[in-house]
Amino acid sequence: MTLTKQPSCRFCGTKLEHTFVDLGMSPLCESYLPFEQLNQMEPFYPLHVQVCANCFLVQLEAYVTPEHIFSDYAYFSSYSDSWLAHAKRYTALMVERFGIGANSFVVELASNDGYLLQYFVEKKVPVLGIEPAANIAEVAIKKGVPTLVKFFGRESARELVASGRKADLLLGNNVLAQVPDVNDFVAGMKILLAPSGVITMEFPHLQRLMEENQFDTIYHEHFSYFSFVTAEKIFAAHGLTLFDVEELPTHGGSLRIYGRHAEDASKPVTARVTEMRHREVSAGYLQLETYSRFAEQVKETKRKLLEFLIKAKRSGKQIAGYGAPGKGNTLLNYCGIRTDFLDYTVDRNPYKHGRFLPGTHVPIFPPERIRETKPDFLLILPWNLKNEIIQQNAFIREWGGKFVVPIPEVQVHE
Ligand SMILES: [Zn+2]
Repeated sequence: MTLTKQPSCRFCGTKLEHTFVDLGMSPLCESYLPFEQLNQMEPFYPLHVQVCANCFLVQLEAYVTPEHIFSDYAYFSSYSDSWLAHAKRYTALMVERFGIGANSFVVELASNDGYLLQYFVEKKVPVLGIEPAANIAEVAIKKGVPTLVKFFGRESARELVASGRKADLLLGNNVLAQVPDVNDFVAGMKILLAPSGVITMEFPHLQRLMEENQFDTIYHEHFSYFSFVTAEKIFAAHGLTLFDVEELPTHGGSLRIYGRHAEDASKPVTARVTEMRHREVSAGYLQLETYSRFAEQVKETKRKLLEFLIKAKRSGKQIAGYGAPGKGNTLLNYCGIRTDFLDYTVDRNPYKHGRFLPGTHVPIFPPERIRETKPDFLLILPWNLKNEIIQQNAFIREWGGKFVVPIPEVQVHE
């Protein structure tokens, strides 16, 4: 593993001197441990997020290389029903709005297990996935989604263009945050995009992260956290104009930005862009003070969650976790929640069964474990999917079980 030192802003190069939030030391959130590794040393890295005083990009130093992160990446998008439904709706929307069809070429960056492109394949649209994790790309290929195992940037964009292909629709969901060299990535999109092509990118919205205390979405694999105004600046620097923006409920509140070549006048900039820009500027997203207030909010969220857990344990309650997402690992490590509070957690992804959460070593079981042990409280770690999870596990009410959602602050659902 290599340490890549980055004391300056990954977009504009300004020296980074202002703390956004410091979550202490944490292991890599996707390093689920097998039993044999429990007694070995475990690397912890700082989760110290900074904000650039010039462009206001909120960012984490890249302590680990993407090669390391993606070598055996455990995240399979297809394990979430609501995420699949989201992908299906997106496909219908693109077909309708931009006339994407059999003569188009759709490219997805970080296409994961083909969870989204499969819906374009169903509609006979030529697609290509670009996915750095080989084990996940393999699943996509088996599903009939052509996928290249590659990191995306200027170089891979030029290779694709040289083979005679430019993208009419170029999309990436939850990848922009995971790119260590954001300039190389966005420059690559400029190269690969057809003259009248459309880019769509979805990423968690910084405003929602800050307003709703979603500090657990901060982890080593997420290098950058974007406001709309900062994203707009980055795309503009590479000759791309954001012509539309939508707010989505996914991942606790995301933005879907629509980009095009600055030269392409066929798609006018919508009022939604002006409104979003105005909203962020009035909320202070171009002022350093706004960012420096976040850290205290996070500490208070931790105190409230621990207060609840201590009280529950003192009155003899049994608490289990639901889910083993990356965000859960940030939360549990930052708050110091181990098997002293959580007996175990469950996950639908069989890859994680029999393994242990990084840092906290909470064991991960299949969901059936809940019926066997009948916990009093189920702490929902992927709170962005709480409605889906509460619905799927409504049976815990048979024995008086209750759901606990930790973010934006601890809340019990009967
Ligand atoms: Zn900057």
